[in-house]
Amino acid sequence: MAHLLFKDVNKVYPNGYHAVHDFNMEIGDGEFICLVGDSGCGKSTTLRMIAGLEDITAGEFYIDGKLANNMSSRDRGIAMVFQSYALYPHLTVYENLAFGLTLEGIDADVIEEKVNATAKILGLTDYLERFPRQLSGGQCQRVAVGRALIRKVNIFLMDEPLSNLDAKQRVTMRSEIKQIHRSVGATTIYVTHDQTEAMTMSDRIVVMKSGGYVQQIGTPYELYFYPKNLFVAGFIGEPPMNFIRGKVEDGKFTAHGLNFELKHVVKDVKTIEGKEVVFAFRPEAVNVGKDKTGYNITAKVELTELLGDNTNVYATVGEGSEKNNIILKINPHHTPEVGADFSFSIPRVAAYVYDAETEEIVENDVKRH
Ligand code: ADP
Repeated sequence: MAHLLFKDVNKVYPNGYHAVHDFNMEIGDGEFICLVGDSGCGKSTTLRMIAGLEDITAGEFYIDGKLANNMSSRDRGIAMVFQSYALYPHLTVYENLAFGLTLEGIDADVIEEKVNATAKILGLTDYLERFPRQLSGGQCQRVAVGRALIRKVNIFLMDEPLSNLDAKQRVTMRSEIKQIHRSVGATTIYVTHDQTEAMTMSDRIVVMKSGGYVQQIGTPYELYFYPKNLFVAGFIGEPPMNFIRGKVEDGKFTAHGLNFELKHVVKDVKTIEGKEVVFAFRPEAVNVGKDKTGYNITAKVELTELLGDNTNVYATVGEGSEKNNIILKINPHHTPEVGADFSFSIPRVAAYVYDAETEEIVENDVKRH
């Protein structure tokens, strides 16, 4: 296991592109961290700097208290799994797993022991004599993970390891990787663009935005219930958070006939008086019908999707260029008709107010439970 520390780490590529800006983070021994964000936001670059495959342009990176900026890849105690698992097609699973150890000249007995132990962790014991073409995508990915695991490492790096698998295999491998992490305990940094993967696997998540800017670092719970800016609010959660733009007038959120008293959901309404703000709430946080203590909205239903356990209601608030599209996730027994006016209420603890200009959340001390 290893402890990692990043102090103002930056990456500027030789062509001048600034791919990672002031990355600051401390990662504890054995933590499982996901780097998440849209394509091109600097996730892989960060991972490659940890691996020693890319130079760090500025800042400091420490492994177990030792400055590692110029430490060779070999000395970092890392193993890496990539999206394309590139197994050797002409070697069996056993030989694929043993390959690196054989190169290192390790005794055959020791190799056999390690291959068997790794195969056991990964459920590959019955497949050791097979060739990659005789395996499913999920099994191939497990061999790739096994190849990295077989060497005793302190840091495990994974770059979108599940993106070549189908949806069902991804779900299975997600829990398998978590179990492996639990049994091996190596500090793990996992790159994905898939927020569900990040939410389900991580101890903590780093949300990054294009340009290489870290937006928020926190547990899945923190990011879901306390997103500190509009980007994180919109990125984490499926369907995403709903946003309605408006203005603060006399301490009230005002837009499209809505008039919401904000004093319960922001610390000091005076600080946002007259400002443009975004009123936000999660699709599943609403109650059907009006409620005296909540924020009541009537929206026009555009489309409904009955999913069984719930119905997604696509609706609009406001008219013309001021129209806001929203999605509500409601009890399927209350599915409204398309074209109908649909009234719902948002409990105060589920309402968020963001400054439209800075995109940061307005200071508040709402306990979201
Ligand atoms: P992600 O993993 O989040 O998709 P990357 O870290 O791969 O993003 O890339 C971040 C940004 O850096 C992208 O805009 C990419 O085009 C750019 N980039 C990556 N590698 C290089 C390189 N060798 N030279 C110049 N720019 C690069």
